[in-house]
Amino acid sequence: MPTIDPARLMGDLNHLRSIGAYKTGVHRPTFSAHDMEARRWLLRRMEEAGLSARIDGIGTVYGRREAAGPKMLTGSHLESQNHAGWLDGALGVIYGLEAARAIAEDPAFADCAVDVVALADEEGHFGSFLGSKSFIGVLEEAEIDTAANRYDGRSLRSALADVGLAGEPRIVCEKGRYKGFIEAHIEQGDTLIGSGAKIGVVTAIVAIWQYRLVFEGEQNHAGTTSMKRRRDAGLSAVRALARIDERFPLICGERTVWTAGRIALEPGAASVIPGRAEALFQFRDADEATLERLDAELRAIVAEIDMQGPCRASVEVMAQSRPALMDEGLQAAIEQAAEIHAPGKSLRMPSGAGHDAQYLARIMPAAMLFAPSIGGISHHWTEDTAEEDIVLGAQVYAEAVAQALRG
Ligand SMILES: [Zn+2]
Repeated sequence: MPTIDPARLMGDLNHLRSIGAYKTGVHRPTFSAHDMEARRWLLRRMEEAGLSARIDGIGTVYGRREAAGPKMLTGSHLESQNHAGWLDGALGVIYGLEAARAIAEDPAFADCAVDVVALADEEGHFGSFLGSKSFIGVLEEAEIDTAANRYDGRSLRSALADVGLAGEPRIVCEKGRYKGFIEAHIEQGDTLIGSGAKIGVVTAIVAIWQYRLVFEGEQNHAGTTSMKRRRDAGLSAVRALARIDERFPLICGERTVWTAGRIALEPGAASVIPGRAEALFQFRDADEATLERLDAELRAIVAEIDMQGPCRASVEVMAQSRPALMDEGLQAAIEQAAEIHAPGKSLRMPSGAGHDAQYLARIMPAAMLFAPSIGGISHHWTEDTAEEDIVLGAQVYAEAVAQALRG
């Protein structure tokens, strides 16, 4: 049975935390100086662990070992959101590295390989899952041509040139090499903390269905237009969203979430009746039937608002992804590993956030292990996990990878 080294694990995580440190978190946006320092540091740590490693043309760091027997892929991402937490991504990468070391040190696994990957730009500073898409072979050069930094507009091509990666070949995952991919990640929610569980076994990564709701009324004077005559697009939007909030709970799943992340009124002035309102609205769930039901209900509500007047209402689909189902066999491996090191303390749950595993799941069996997030906080510098939970999670993770190798 592989045994992790808690001091080596925490030493690596804390070293990574020192690169681009910001308060108690980190600021390591993709291709910043600190991000590249972290990538180069990881490369050296992979080599010290006996992996042959390189950084490819999209910034992904990949370390692998040659072996005749079964192989597993581990890892996550290295960059952070701006001024964000120290564990988002880093935890999964260092868990992978520690599992690779612990399993390599166990003579019972001498014929096996545990490879580690830090997939570039999961946090989307330049695009959407660029590293994952590149690694599974679906990232076109044209997408790299058009990608730009979402904060300062700098093109991805010039960023890659600045960090010396322009022209470097991109690594595409070798078909059939792996029995599967297990990604560890902090939960970023409060399900584990709330239930007292220590290990989350992810069943599926939710789909996001994103819409634009548009309400068209008549822009007019707020003082001289009678209530009877006016066509207030803002009020129609509010009515629609209130109706969603009344009716979605009657048909949603246990963990469905919905959000109107942006509501805009035109012209948006104190004394002008809004002539147009637009709401960006999304819901997330891991179950396709639930997604379809909510989609139908949303359309029905918008149609009612449109029919009842006085404003026109319409709905436009912006994106409808599919839920990524996690592999049953790998979920069982994580659960069995949890039973050994944290009996009765694992919990099956969907992931409400997107992760690299949803892309890797397209080319191999994939699964995810969650560690508890204190207060359910993430994408903020206060993000944290108790050290004993970090260490326990790493041991369960290494055991799960070992079980998967032998499974
Ligand atoms: Zn992440």
